[in-house]
Amino acid sequence: MQRRKFIKTSAIGALALSHFPLLANGKEFEFSILELMGKTDIKLYGKDINLRKEAHDAFVEMKKAAYSDGIDIKIVSSYRSFERQRGIWERKYLKYTDDNQMKPIEAIDKIIEYSTIPGTSRHHWGTDIDIIDGYQKVQGDVLDPDKFSEGQPFNNLKKWMDENANKYHFYLVYTDTPGRRGFKYEPWHFSYAPISKPMLKEFRSKNIMQLLSKEDFYGSEHFTEGFLTNYIEDNILDINTELL
Ligand SMILES: [Zn+2]
Repeated sequence: MQRRKFIKTSAIGALALSHFPLLANGKEFEFSILELMGKTDIKLYGKDINLRKEAHDAFVEMKKAAYSDGIDIKIVSSYRSFERQRGIWERKYLKYTDDNQMKPIEAIDKIIEYSTIPGTSRHHWGTDIDIIDGYQKVQGDVLDPDKFSEGQPFNNLKKWMDENANKYHFYLVYTDTPGRRGFKYEPWHFSYAPISKPMLKEFRSKNIMQLLSKEDFYGSEHFTEGFLTNYIEDNILDINTELL
């Protein structure tokens, strides 16, 4: 009786699984809207790393390799929840509209040079990292594109990542490709493609516009359909094509 029951259950399990695409290791993937928008806790690995298991393991391997070339890949930011992103967004929004007296639309355009609308950050996914070289002493803002350019403190890190990141399946997201729209060039932001690609695919299959128009935070009342259409096309989708 026991065995019969087992066989029956596993047959149903196999049937259910066949509806989902499979990862290389045969595991099913399916990401909920809450997960894609940073609204639910996910299991994260590694002290000061905070990535999904596979991304964590690949990161540790990459970090080891960089060490032996004299570079200390240090994560400045990895997983970030919806609430955390809302905090970043609202702080900037209030600063630009109150202190700098900008109009709401201008403030929003300024914020989305580098920061995402809460719910749309790739940092919600546990696959993306912002990195610097921990061996370099740097004054002021570390996530500054100039600091990664020739002769600057993080240039060796940039060159090392250009050469090696893809071997570990990490890809630069916001490249300096001429004509790319959306977020500005971020030489520090990398994504673990084997998980983030299916996550983006799943996110695209949802009605992102509808999800965003239901949100309520400072400035969200100024999101028009046209603005959100452009934001999805440019800021979410105009990224390194290796990640699409
Ligand atoms: Zn980032």
